[in-house]
Parts: sequence; structure tokens; C-alpha cells
Amino acid sequence: MLRTTMYCFSLLIFLLSWACVPIYARNRVHQLAPDVYYWAGDLSKHEQTNVGFVVFRDYVLVIDANFPWAAEHIIEDIKTITPKPIRFVFNTHYHADHIMGNSVFAARGAAIVSTDDLALELGNKGMADVLEQTKIKLHHLELPSVRFSDRLVFDDGQHRVELVKYGRAHTKGDGVAYLPAEGVVFVGDLAVNWTHGNNLSDQDVSYIGWIRALDNIANLHLKTVIPAHGDLGDVDLLRRQREFISDMWKQVKQGLKAGKSPAELKKTLQFTQHGIFARDPRETEDMVESMCERARTQPDWNSGPGESE
Ligand SMILES: [Zn+2]
Repeated sequence: MLRTTMYCFSLLIFLLSWACVPIYARNRVHQLAPDVYYWAGDLSKHEQTNVGFVVFRDYVLVIDANFPWAAEHIIEDIKTITPKPIRFVFNTHYHADHIMGNSVFAARGAAIVSTDDLALELGNKGMADVLEQTKIKLHHLELPSVRFSDRLVFDDGQHRVELVKYGRAHTKGDGVAYLPAEGVVFVGDLAVNWTHGNNLSDQDVSYIGWIRALDNIANLHLKTVIPAHGDLGDVDLLRRQREFISDMWKQVKQGLKAGKSPAELKKTLQFTQHGIFARDPRETEDMVESMCERARTQPDWNSGPGESE
């Protein structure tokens, strides 16, 4: 009897504590491993970036800052998981949906972390990029204050997160957050898993660099891949993203070298075999157009037409 009463009491406490967690936190925070979580982005709310967070012994490290309005929700949701302070926010690349929330986290005491190249890119292109993408004129852009060239490791004996540079790829300064013990990697926009395609249009994109980055990341010990947009996946997501970019690069190069116009290539090239990556025909056309615009500036543009990539 006492045991039944205790059980009911415990269940009641559990249900009450669960009821106190805001509904959006329940739906949006997903646990990947002990102390390792991601907060699911939602395009319909203009909060499209998946945001990771790792609870270390004394602090929380957040991966990507999303938009400012999303950052407020993320901070509240993290509080439902842990009272520890958010000390560091890592930006995977400089695009607006990954960095605009920096100022919200910084105002609460977090230091922003990135590759050196990302910090330069954000300083040079960030304001204009934010304005172009969001129509919001920023008065203050929070730049990373902790910067690294190739690798920065957070390791407190309980958790280890390796921030590793893989740019130039999607942008100049791309980095990923890799948790070797858990086999988890947060890849930013190096791979996505939604029907809206990937953004291939950054002025410093390197398609070959991107393909190589995906190959190198796929060689890590991995169980879970968290793309910045869409559902989580595994190493197969990296391979499929790689094949899509590689196939588009090959077809675009061959087409341009055969004298076809970008407009012609937009209408004729076929990528439907790549499933989710090419599900939206308009997005796919935009990607072909971007690639055509940048093709001649790419490092391997001058290799022969029959080359592998
Ligand atoms: Zn993004």
C-alpha cells in the first residue's frame, strides 16, 4: 500500500514537473545523449536553424545562435533542462539564420566562438548579408570574441566537443562541432535535410572544398549527424548531400563547357534522383543558377571536361 502511494506520488510529481515545462520546449528540445541536445528549428516560425547544446560540468555550450527572436526561446528552453549558465555560443558559419541571435546570448554573458575566417567574413559581409536576407538593418552585429584557426577543444573530463574548421566550403569559415565519444556532429549548412535545398550561392563558396569537407566529416566516427536545417540523420546524409553537390557541379561544368547557357541548364538539368535535395524544382533551379554564376571562379574550373568532379 505504502509502495503504491509512493508510486502515485512520484508519478504525480513527474506529471506536474512535465506540465510545468512550456509546450514548445517539450516539442522542440530533443536529447541525443546524456547532456547533449538539439533544439529543432521551424521554418514556419522563421526560426529555421537547428541549435545544439551541450551541458558541461559548469556551463552550457550552444551551437549556432539562430535569429534573435528564436534565441529568446532557446534560452528559456535550455533553462528547463539545466540551471547552468550559457557561457559559449559557437557559430558554424556567418549566415544570418546562424548568427543574428549572437547579441541575445552575449547580452546574457555568453562569449561567441568561431573560426578566424568566420569572424572576418561576418565583419566584412554580415551587415549586408543580414539586410539582404531578412530586410532587417542591424545596428549592432555581435562578432565572435573567441576565435581559432583550425581546431578548438572543450573538454572538462565529462564531455569533449571539438570545434573543427572545414571551410572553405559552404562559406569561407565553416566549422563543425564534433563529439567523438557520442559520435555526434553538428554540421551547420554543410548538409541539410529538408525540401528547401541548400544555399549554394555564397560568394566564397567552394564546391570542391565542400565535397572534400563532406568526405572528411564522413570519415569521423559518427552515429548522428545534425544538419542545421531539417531532420537529423547519419553518415548517409553526408554522402547523399555530397553526391548531390558533386553531380550538380559535374553537370553544370559539362553544360557550360559545351556552350549551354545558364537559363538552358536551369531548365534541362535533372536531379530528381537525389530525392529530398532536389524536391523543390524552383530551389533546384536557383541552385543551378548560383553554380553557373560562380563556376568560372572555382579553383578546378580549368580542369578538363571529363574530370571526376
Ligand atoms: Zn542556414
